[in-house]
Amino acid sequence: MSIREVQHQARAIRIIQRALASTRMPHAYLFTGPEGVGREMMAMRLAQILLCKSPVVGQAPAEDEPPYTEACNACDDCRMVQAGTHPDLFVIHRLLVREHPDPTIRRQKALAISAEVVRHFLIEPVGRRPSRGRAKVFIIREAERLTDTAQNSLLKTLEEPPPSTFLILITSAQDRMLPTTRSRCQRVSFQPLPAQFVTEQLAALRPDTPDAERLFAARHCGGSLGAALRLIEDGLFATKRTWGDRLVELLRPARGFAPHLLAQPFITDAKEISKQVAEREPDISESDAIRMGVQTLLAALASFYQDAQRRVSGADVPPTNADQLGVIDLLAQTHSSRQLVAALHQLAQADAAIGRNAAAELTAETLFIQLANISQGRPALRVAL
Ligand SMILES: [Zn+2]
Repeated sequence: MSIREVQHQARAIRIIQRALASTRMPHAYLFTGPEGVGREMMAMRLAQILLCKSPVVGQAPAEDEPPYTEACNACDDCRMVQAGTHPDLFVIHRLLVREHPDPTIRRQKALAISAEVVRHFLIEPVGRRPSRGRAKVFIIREAERLTDTAQNSLLKTLEEPPPSTFLILITSAQDRMLPTTRSRCQRVSFQPLPAQFVTEQLAALRPDTPDAERLFAARHCGGSLGAALRLIEDGLFATKRTWGDRLVELLRPARGFAPHLLAQPFITDAKEISKQVAEREPDISESDAIRMGVQTLLAALASFYQDAQRRVSGADVPPTNADQLGVIDLLAQTHSSRQLVAALHQLAQADAAIGRNAAAELTAETLFIQLANISQGRPALRVAL
């Protein structure tokens, strides 16, 4: 493994390489950024360098940079890190609750990382000497899921870890973490990946998925390869195609069509997506899965309006819905830039309402009525969602 394999994160690599070259390596890192952009890949590679018996220091890729440290990839430590068997490398995640020795703790839902999990799987091993003498590295996945109690129990370790103990907290929602936790970590932010790179990765990882579907996933994923893979898993492409066609119905209503009638099929499709969510997310409640399904579908709907908005404003960005250019054309022809902004505002409001657990069907009904009004040049109703 090489740190250079983490692609399109040059800034993060530079921060870490500078720290490795200095004598003051931070003992706690907070890796922030969208999931599926290389945060965990980087954490594993940094862990390998810290645990490697004879790291190699070489020339940096740029002239003005400090020497570049890499793991040797040959020693026993390197081999064990790569095999996932290194005794001084600990990956802390919410499913560990199921391996806790106390059966009452094991019955906790794996939605958060509790103080009991942190105590048993992190604080206790922190107090022991490294098995192989060099260092101990703890990687915490989804650190935003650490409960407040868990974070408070970590403070002392974050503040004054024993020598050669390193913690790498990974999060996509740092604002959900306590400021006291964040301030004790050196923050390294990771950037969304370019759509072109995600497209190439998807071609390698999902060769059987049709090109048009991969292209949609790559452009709709917000620069997160993880999110793109999930969009494919959820079968969102077929569903969003249906909704592109339904937008046409909304914009060119046939006799007897009423916009609120779209709410029911919308919820049905969102529930279909929520089944995939429930399969993937351990212990998620049904209502949370449905909320995520609705939000996924809202984002897909918004992508058509965003495409049209880019078309109208002449932005040089390829459309997310390149397979349904007719829908984008129609939206761009029938909407002014202001109307498109108003529609996107309604979609964002619906998303926020669902986030606050508003009734999904009512929210969808209101949304489709608003979108129809906007398309006909009528002002959007003032409805508090
Ligand atoms: Zn090594």
